[in-house]
Amino acid sequence: MVGKTGSQGPVVVTHALGSYHVYVETGALARLPALIQELLPDRRVALIADSRVDSIYRSGEWGTGLLEAESLTFEPGEKSKTRESWAELTDQLTERGFGRDAALVALGGGVTGDLAGFVAATYMRGVPYVQVPTTLLAMLDASVGGKTGVDTPRGKNLVGAFHPPAAVVADPNTLKTLPEREYRGGMAEAVKHGMIADESYLAWIESNAEAIGRRDPGTLIHLVRRSVEIKAQVVSDDEREAGRRAILNAGHTIAHALEQSSGYMIPHGEAVALGLIAESRLAEALGIGAAGLSRRVAALLARLGLPVSLPGRIPRARLLDSMSRDKKNKRGDIHFALATRAGAMHRSDTWTTAVPFHRIEAALAAIEETTQD
Ligand code: ADP
Ligand code: ZN
Repeated sequence: MVGKTGSQGPVVVTHALGSYHVYVETGALARLPALIQELLPDRRVALIADSRVDSIYRSGEWGTGLLEAESLTFEPGEKSKTRESWAELTDQLTERGFGRDAALVALGGGVTGDLAGFVAATYMRGVPYVQVPTTLLAMLDASVGGKTGVDTPRGKNLVGAFHPPAAVVADPNTLKTLPEREYRGGMAEAVKHGMIADESYLAWIESNAEAIGRRDPGTLIHLVRRSVEIKAQVVSDDEREAGRRAILNAGHTIAHALEQSSGYMIPHGEAVALGLIAESRLAEALGIGAAGLSRRVAALLARLGLPVSLPGRIPRARLLDSMSRDKKNKRGDIHFALATRAGAMHRSDTWTTAVPFHRIEAALAAIEETTQD
């Protein structure tokens, strides 16, 4: 098992340049102004959010006083994660006279974190920012790692910078307004965290699937905290154990291929759910993974309302083709981070295993069948 849960303080994330705190508390948002005052005194703060999130935090239960800061908005969705949006936000900051004493607050999902984080990374050669994730995916995934960036027509996240936030404030209350499908997508990453590093966490998710589904705040606190702890641990271990970070890619080789070959019609979390099932079946077929893992993972994902078989038939050839074009794969074989059993990942020389095409094809059957056995 990696790390421990229990203490109620923030999760500390360490990185090459220092460390920051991830606060996971119900009601944490109310403390945001005080936290900014404490962490970023004498800074002129700009709040960046997509227009949808911005309007939620201007009305209803959140009132208008979330933050006395100037706000900048952009259109919701991945289509806004571009150099053009980066330029527009940057121009707005300069037009409004923000200087080196600027600080940003990124309020929203993964798109906002990546985009506003990249603005922060580059504005005046870098200004601090606080990340306030409002999607489950952003809370338990994007809040650790310090990656910021935008997409280009050639692919996702091709332009970016490493720029860790000054702090992350995750308030499970913000998830109440999140659309159901968006919410469920985030849970695939939590299942991944259990699968790669902590069997007892996986078992906890199994026992609490119902409470997680109804977004019980206390249950969500544990879910987000434990996932953040696991990801932070894996990322910081990487400095000693070069390449261990690759285990976070579990399920993602196939997930990325699914996203690409569906023209991004399959959302990331759903693609990850399918990828976790197919890749654990692959591990079993190769004799690396213990029998039964893919079945266990599929059963849990199904209970969490995630898909366990492909929506429409995507030709295997197209999936394999997009895997072979992935920047992480050097010619020929495709590299996978494979589980040996729940909570433990296979390691030989490296944390990934090269797998020939025909073995992958066979594993794809796991998500092509209508799994009702
Ligand atoms: P992700 O975190 O899934 O990468 P985005 O940043 O694109 O993604 O957010 C997904 C969508 O959910 C966007 O349309 C965004 O406006 C919306 N959204 C984000 N947070 C909330 C929230 N707490 N309540 C309602 N909608 C939200
Ligand atoms: Zn992911």
